[in-house]
Amino acid sequence: MPNGLNVPNEQTGLSRRALLGAGASGAVLFTTAALSVATATPASASQVGWLWCNQCQSLWWPGNGFQVRCADPANRFHNSTGSGRYVVFDDRDNRGGQTGWRWCAYCQSLWFAGNGDRGYCTVNGAGGHTSAGSRGYRVEQNASGQSGWTWCHQCNGLWYRLGATDGACPLRDGHFSHARVGSGDYSLNLA
Ligand SMILES: [Zn+2]
Ligand SMILES: [Zn+2]
Ligand SMILES: [Zn+2]
Repeated sequence: MPNGLNVPNEQTGLSRRALLGAGASGAVLFTTAALSVATATPASASQVGWLWCNQCQSLWWPGNGFQVRCADPANRFHNSTGSGRYVVFDDRDNRGGQTGWRWCAYCQSLWFAGNGDRGYCTVNGAGGHTSAGSRGYRVEQNASGQSGWTWCHQCNGLWYRLGATDGACPLRDGHFSHARVGSGDYSLNLA
């Protein structure tokens, strides 16, 4: 059983090639005001610095400078000790993968907006995630990089399936795990 704190740091299979030519990080593109709607600047094809939370297993964006709510009922904020720095591609970057992913300005997580429902948000509850202010993102499947990333049909978030637990889903206030059913095997690159 791998240590869940360490697994997402593994570099096995990481494709440096995939990062070449991708440009700058975009990590400074968002404002620092709490829960403000960020302005997406169409400057780079990838955004570096997304983190994995070792409690809820979700992928989230730390670039706005404040602690972010975690769905884990025992922990108010995400804990990304042990996480690598993940790269998420802009959907205008003409590579493979699935478009329709967005950043949520409420909970800072990456979520899939292509199914016509907003899922369930740690901050906004049943009102779901928002795509306001987000650029479009693209996530690869069955690609090089770290596999095991999974879409949850309950919250519409992206979470890491190979950790020590199946995490905590925002649905039902985190008292249940994320769902695996219906998801492809998504892959993320590490910076
Ligand atoms: Zn968390
Ligand atoms: Zn949200
Ligand atoms: Zn979920």
